[in-house]
Amino acid sequence: MVEATLNELAASAGARIEQAGSSEELEQVRIEVLGRKGVLAQISKEMGKVLPQDRARLGKLLNEVKQRLEQASDAKQGRFAEAAMRARLEAEWIDLTLPCPQPPVRHLHPITQIQDEIEDLFVSLGFAVLDGPEVETEYHNFDALNIPATHPARDAQDTFWLDDGNLLRTHTSPVQVRGMERLGPPLRMVAPGRVFRNESVDASHEHTFYQIEGMVVDREVSVAHLIYFMKTMLTEIFRQEVTVRLRPGYFPFVEPGFELDVRCLLCGGDGCPVCKQSGWVEQLGCGLVHPNVLRSSGIDPDIWNGWAFGLGLTRLAMMRYGIDDIRLLQGGDLRFLEQL
Ligand SMILES: [Zn+2]
Repeated sequence: MVEATLNELAASAGARIEQAGSSEELEQVRIEVLGRKGVLAQISKEMGKVLPQDRARLGKLLNEVKQRLEQASDAKQGRFAEAAMRARLEAEWIDLTLPCPQPPVRHLHPITQIQDEIEDLFVSLGFAVLDGPEVETEYHNFDALNIPATHPARDAQDTFWLDDGNLLRTHTSPVQVRGMERLGPPLRMVAPGRVFRNESVDASHEHTFYQIEGMVVDREVSVAHLIYFMKTMLTEIFRQEVTVRLRPGYFPFVEPGFELDVRCLLCGGDGCPVCKQSGWVEQLGCGLVHPNVLRSSGIDPDIWNGWAFGLGLTRLAMMRYGIDDIRLLQGGDLRFLEQL
């Protein structure tokens, strides 16, 4: 009876092991047959009931069946493991002779590139590069620059006022004041940086943009000096000789003040859409430092005078790269930035 059961089990379990389609299926069979509560364990418990003269023989048979099934199960499990390893090797195979993937090449923001170039130029001409706070006092942003409280220029520059009476600087010019206060004359400085205006944003207006400001305070500074430095700077920026002209321009902190135009680099002055057929492109504001500005910072205008200029770095970047929407520059869209 027990013998028949064991032989039958050996055959049926052997077949199930052989036919198992997966490691999980095989494990199921192993638990059912060879497990602690499996069929063989049950039979083993019942060995006490067999006749004493049969016990040794049946015990031996039981062990043989158990061993055979264990071996079959282990062998089958080994084949599954081997197949899994083969599949993994196939899937994770790499060609070590291929060139190693490089980290993507990054570059500086176009405004930073232009700022760096202009800084390098002015450093080579003996200028200091100064930085100043973006949150400014009303005094440094307006009063010390000859823009009194009643002055219409305050309305012209829509200002972000803060609750404590300070403001987000509307231009980089307050750094001139801080430079004069800290360093005194003679002085050669440039101040690049971020400025803020309370503007409605559209393709040509942003609430946040970049300027660079420059100033020289020395004895007997003239408009000729100013023109020389402006031509040198613009020639460097545009990487070609430029022709400039000055028109009267009003800025409260200079007297006389000028708008400086560059002869159109695209048409050479004949007229084209970029220069609106005029042959000239408006480039920057500049002039001789107003005596009131010098005086505010404790510099005697009878001894010292100076020139100053302010240039829109954001606009310059737009011109150089042919960008027609100012919002792209601060948008942080890599699809745009990676083209530059
Ligand atoms: Zn033109």
